[in-house]
Amino acid sequence: MDWRENVRMVTPYVAGEQPKISDIIKLNTNESPYPPSPKVGAGMASLDAGLLRLYPDPNCTVLVDALADYYGLTPEQVFVGVGSDDVLALAYLTFFNSKKPLLFPDVSYSFYDVWAELYRIPYQTVPLDDDFGINQEDYLRDNGGIIFPNPNAPTGVFENLDLVEYIVKNNSDSIVIIDEAYIDFGGVSALKLIDKYSNLLVVQTFSKSRAMAGIRIGYAMGNPELIKYLSDAKFSFNSYTMNLTSLTLGGLAVLDDAYFKEITAKIINTREWFGKELTRLGFSYPKSCANFIFATHPEIKAAELFLKLKESGIYVRYFNQPRIDNYLRITIGTDEEMRKVVEFLNKYNV
Ligand code: PMP
Repeated sequence: MDWRENVRMVTPYVAGEQPKISDIIKLNTNESPYPPSPKVGAGMASLDAGLLRLYPDPNCTVLVDALADYYGLTPEQVFVGVGSDDVLALAYLTFFNSKKPLLFPDVSYSFYDVWAELYRIPYQTVPLDDDFGINQEDYLRDNGGIIFPNPNAPTGVFENLDLVEYIVKNNSDSIVIIDEAYIDFGGVSALKLIDKYSNLLVVQTFSKSRAMAGIRIGYAMGNPELIKYLSDAKFSFNSYTMNLTSLTLGGLAVLDDAYFKEITAKIINTREWFGKELTRLGFSYPKSCANFIFATHPEIKAAELFLKLKESGIYVRYFNQPRIDNYLRITIGTDEEMRKVVEFLNKYNV
């Protein structure tokens, strides 16, 4: 016997490139083009390095309390982790233990099948319609759990809460996870449904709208029983997931709501302007409620444009996958960055 037979071999998720060069326009990983709240900067400058001697608070109280206050929840309804990837991975481990398949859309976050493979969870992808929309009836089949992003990634399509509620309500025997990584750019959160449905978990992140991808904070909100199961799994894995810096700075970020609203509004404005420019240039895209636009052109090949953009220092995301291999996902940067993209596209020869 070969020891390799006992190795948990996986094909890992491939994240967008983080190039080392600095003078590029980086629109490939949906980061914010703006810095975090000035309160975070000030908090960082006054952190006491001496405190790093101690383990951080395993209950993450400062951050959990700040989030609970912000969303009008009790701390028992909030769970925090190292980015929403960490929260989602733990949620898979905790909630998706059925022999029936986990369901998620065929075009969605490409980490979903990776976690399923990692944990050996059976899964089925459910095709989106031709406009990248979810057909709610497709989720009435037997399943061991459901997950989808809303707004969806990489399409930016937002599904209204009636559809979300329909799916949650009609699957009361499974946990339904709504991955709201992009919810603050124009969507309506399913958070208001967590008191009504004990099988609903809503997951959000500091990486996009709070401009803190580098600090790695994600969180889940649900009824206290769900949160307790997540917490039990965490304490059976690693008690100290959140370091002192994340807890402190994350807590400060939540307090600065005015700044949060200012930068999300700016990104939405830029998206709407940039979208019109894309239309003028002959591109089409589904209406986006996220901080990116998923665009295609009838004559320009996405794979080629991707490389040409990159050669000129503009990084966007291209997925060589069925149904979406002629699309580019373009993160919304500052007005100036997007003007440069438009300038490039104006000159690009068909
Ligand atoms: N969900 C979706 C749909 C995403 O696009 C991302 C970003 N890659 C994440 C979750 C994870 O984000 P993070 O771990 O930075 O919170």
